[in-house]
Amino acid sequence: MYRRSRLREAFNASRATNHLVARFGAVPVLFSGVDELFHTDPPPDFSRARIARVAVERGIESARDGLIEHALTYRIDDDQTAIGDRVRVPLGRGNKPAEGVVIRVGGIELLDGLDPRKVKAIVARTGSRLPASLIALAEWMAVYYVCPLGMVLATMMPAAVKKGVGLKTTTLLQRADAPPELPEGSTKAFRSAWARLLAADTAAFPADPRTLAATLELSPAAIKKLTAAGLLIATTKRTLTSTAPQESASGPVAPRPTLTTEQHAAVEGVCADLGRFHVHLLRGVTGSGKTEVYLRVIEAAMARGKTAIVLVPEIALTPQTSRRFLDRFGPGRVAVLHSGLTASQRHGQWAACATGAVRVVVGARSAIFAPLPDLGLIVVDEEHDSSYKQDQLPRYHARDVAVKRGHLEGLPVLLGSATPSLESWANARVNKAGIGKYRLWTLATRATGAPMPPVEIVDLAMERRVRAAQAGPGDRHLHLVGPTLERALGDTLDAGGQAILLLNRRGYANYLCCPDPKCGYLMHCRDCDATMIYHLADSARGLSAGGFVRCHHCLAEQLLPRKCPDCGKAINTFGLGTQRVEEELERKFAIPHGLRIGTTLLRVDGDTMRSARDYFDALGRFADGSVRVLLGTQMIAKGLDFPNVRLVGVVHADTALSLPDFRALERTFQLVSQVAGRAGRGKEAGRVIVQTMEPRSPAIVLAAAHDYEKFADQELAIRTRAGLPPVGRMARVVCRDEDHAKAHASAGAIADALQDAINKLPKDSGGVRLKGPMPCPISRVAAQYRVAIEILAQTRGVVQTVLAHARAQGLLKSDQHTAIDVDPVALL
Ligand SMILES: [Zn+2]
Ligand SMILES: [Zn+2]
Repeated sequence: MYRRSRLREAFNASRATNHLVARFGAVPVLFSGVDELFHTDPPPDFSRARIARVAVERGIESARDGLIEHALTYRIDDDQTAIGDRVRVPLGRGNKPAEGVVIRVGGIELLDGLDPRKVKAIVARTGSRLPASLIALAEWMAVYYVCPLGMVLATMMPAAVKKGVGLKTTTLLQRADAPPELPEGSTKAFRSAWARLLAADTAAFPADPRTLAATLELSPAAIKKLTAAGLLIATTKRTLTSTAPQESASGPVAPRPTLTTEQHAAVEGVCADLGRFHVHLLRGVTGSGKTEVYLRVIEAAMARGKTAIVLVPEIALTPQTSRRFLDRFGPGRVAVLHSGLTASQRHGQWAACATGAVRVVVGARSAIFAPLPDLGLIVVDEEHDSSYKQDQLPRYHARDVAVKRGHLEGLPVLLGSATPSLESWANARVNKAGIGKYRLWTLATRATGAPMPPVEIVDLAMERRVRAAQAGPGDRHLHLVGPTLERALGDTLDAGGQAILLLNRRGYANYLCCPDPKCGYLMHCRDCDATMIYHLADSARGLSAGGFVRCHHCLAEQLLPRKCPDCGKAINTFGLGTQRVEEELERKFAIPHGLRIGTTLLRVDGDTMRSARDYFDALGRFADGSVRVLLGTQMIAKGLDFPNVRLVGVVHADTALSLPDFRALERTFQLVSQVAGRAGRGKEAGRVIVQTMEPRSPAIVLAAAHDYEKFADQELAIRTRAGLPPVGRMARVVCRDEDHAKAHASAGAIADALQDAINKLPKDSGGVRLKGPMPCPISRVAAQYRVAIEILAQTRGVVQTVLAHARAQGLLKSDQHTAIDVDPVALL
């Protein structure tokens, strides 16, 4: 009975604790803290001992009798240790020190039949504490995402906090109230120091050792001796010395806009739920003023004394959004957690959140764990963005964790996007009774009243025929920018406008191959099932002029081979990448428009943007007009708001369409819609040109028509027929090993365990499908073979039951060979 209750404990901490106390309050177990004393001294009063359950951060979990143990039992020797404390504990036979978090505090009822003589004590508290609400959230995550609890808890606290970066220890000396006797046989010098200290003015205390030595004209050694003799009493204090982050100059604060009718309705609707859990989905076209809705709802929450968390996909990519939060609420009350913070600033911001000094936190994925007290609202901006999913342990989705946190803490969660994920859209659709799980708010028009920009779809195959007819026989250049986009860019530059061009692929060319069809050599990464990507030399990195090739999966690099290794012919480069478009733009526009790489033409991708600072600088140069054309990957598709952008060009809309992933269409629709939304945000009308090889793909046609609802409904119908998420639920297990046979063997064993669990399901569980074991679409990465198993079921409850069963048998464990991904967003 007890073990059964422990499984539930993971779902509901407080209920389970009460349950245990009620059941085991009076178990007669002998208890002694110290082994050696046990036989000589009478047993101490064990009934009042304090016991803690500690989840160790390195993530120890064991399956016992069909249930999961994720915490160890320790004795508490002080009267301060509480739930959420990060502590140091002895681990294993060697008592190796390990860090963990206290998840339960109680009396001997927590011993669970353990021999009390073997229970070790907690060594120390490390000084940081997670709020109890986050412990409950961590327990849910550990179960839902099949991850050891200790690792989830370790994720919740930034490394800078755990390491105590920026903490300074200061010692203060106080004179003893009742001075001890002067030690026998003291030297003359010591007696004189003693007397001088006794005669000193009370106002000199407390003081740090150095100041006191100077004031009393004593040596530091003498101060030390006086402290050792007990005449001086030392206390140590740890203080955080971090400086507040420097926020870049903001310029004039934008006036408070008047809300549109649609914005007003959304604000009122969400505010009506302040104080209770409900999820709201705000679908607003690009430029419709979603951020203003967030700001107003946060204001209302703050007026009630509450705090708020705002999640944004990647903070470095949304400096303009963060800026508006700082402007509205003031720098002291807003913490913007971005990658440019130093470790000690990160620690400082975390501490300011924990004390409640900060009232609004704006940050990327991990900001969902901000330790804010009085949390009253969570906003998830661009909720469809795949960067909310963490691709390492714990493999959580911050949007879904936000919804759970809102549920646990009883507060509204506001999800916003121009192109909501189908998951959220399905939840917001109303059933026959007119009720949706989420409440939907729509902002159908731009806040400025500007029209949505017209989008032209250009068939690349057709454009190439036109180009071939125009070009003389001497033109050997590859044209990635077709005649239509080329003309439009020329017109835009002539008219003094700016342009954004998107190509979601880095590098110069993605195929290196032998020109001889009889040979057919294609350069692959030695360790991955992927082609090598050719990059032009980057002088800053000191690589040779010929360029280099890189694997985008394992990052292996080598110089560009000149000759085919099989037949010796000169090697060819095929395919496209941002560097190649950059080169083409300079070739075509340098003469008439002075477009120059690095000055008026800027490439923004993972290769040129090494830090948040690079990105801020690039955007600054685009904002002041010195950069005319911004060319980049999806980095530039998000959230940018520049009024002079009159042309947006998508160089090749199909980069994601052909990926073997059921979300390929959804991704393409989102990307095209998002980047199109960057155009025509000012007074001048905007124009969008989408080049594609698949001009009839619904993802492209409907994105061009700005018709999200039609796309979402069509796509949902397809997913329904196929039983794919969000209509069905999915979990994926990937087994990795350098040894091909081992990868397949462990996947086979896991598939058997899952099948066994499926066989045990009740009859009414609906169709549950197990796919695999099968090689992943990218079957080898970094010399590891990858074999996948997918579970598909109608509800997440069934997926959870299947996973929990296999886990409790000890047959399903997250480790370096096994990745378990619940609700996966990428299937490569
Ligand atoms: Zn590789
Ligand atoms: Zn060859």
